[in-house]
Order: sequence, then structure tokens, then C-alpha cells
Amino acid sequence: MDTQYNPTNIFAKILRGELPCIKVYEDDDTIAFMDIMPQADGHTLVVPKEAAVNLFDLSEQGAQAAIVATQRVARAVRAAFAPDGISIGQFNGAAAGQTVPHVHFHIVPRYADSALRGHAREMQDPEQLKGHAQRIIAALREQGA
Ligand code: AMP
Repeated sequence: MDTQYNPTNIFAKILRGELPCIKVYEDDDTIAFMDIMPQADGHTLVVPKEAAVNLFDLSEQGAQAAIVATQRVARAVRAAFAPDGISIGQFNGAAAGQTVPHVHFHIVPRYADSALRGHAREMQDPEQLKGHAQRIIAALREQGA
């Protein structure tokens, strides 16, 4: 499993502000934004700011901050989309499905009657994503986060 951090990866560029993202949340240690190829409406990514390829490289402080932020954002996704369930996912290594080599957590709303779309397959309309982000931001505000 590759643990050599490559600072040119796409999330590193987003963290440095070199590429845009549709942000819903930020604190000292993490940022959360909409997945541009969502597996379901409301699919959000929580990204630690620490330069770590995967969970194993993340400091304990970074891991703690990431799970707290993930819980916070997932609560807002639940409030905004009222899904039947929510999957929280985190992939380590290409063999596990990791496509971006900077550690991150997926928050994916699940609906009893609809299958997930493919992983990192199809771009969603940015205007639609912005609308979803607004719902999550409003829910975060509501919960005081
Ligand atoms: P993983 O396969 O676990 O590494 O997940 C990477 C995720 O990042 C996938 O679900 C992609 O759809 C998503 N993704 C790739 N590029 C971007 C981007 N520029 N902004 C937001 N999400 C992205």
C-alpha cells in the first residue's frame, strides 16, 4: 500500500485553494465538500487537512478530528436528505477502491428502494450539487456546527 504522500493529488490542491470545491464545512483540522461524482444525492466527503495518504498515516489527533467532523456533517446530511440510512466509508489503497491518495471519509445517503450509482463514475450537474450543499449547510447551521 502506497504511503508516500504526493502533494499534487487533487484533494491537496483543493486544500491549498488551487482547485475549487463545493464546501459545506470547515474547522481547524478538516474540510468537507460535495463529491463531484456522487453515488447518491448528498454524497459528501470529509477530508483531514493533514497530509496523509490513508487512515494508517493519519495522526491520532487527525483521526479524532476527522471522525468528529464526519459525525457532525453526517448528522446534517441526515437532517437535509432524510434518507433511510447513511453509509460512512473510507478506502485504503487502490485495491480497496481508493482513487484519491489523500485520506478522506465518504458520507453516502442510502434509500431502501434505490441502488447506489457507480463509484467515481459520473459527474453531477454543479448547480444541483450547490443546491444539495445549501441544504447541508442550513442543517449544519441549525445544529450549531
Ligand atoms: P476514493 O475512491 O475513496 O479515493 O474517493 C474519491 C472520491 O473523490 C470519489 O468518490 C470521487 O467521485 C471524488 N472526487 C474526485 N475528484 C473530486 C473533486 N475534484 N471534487 C470532489 N470530489 C471528487
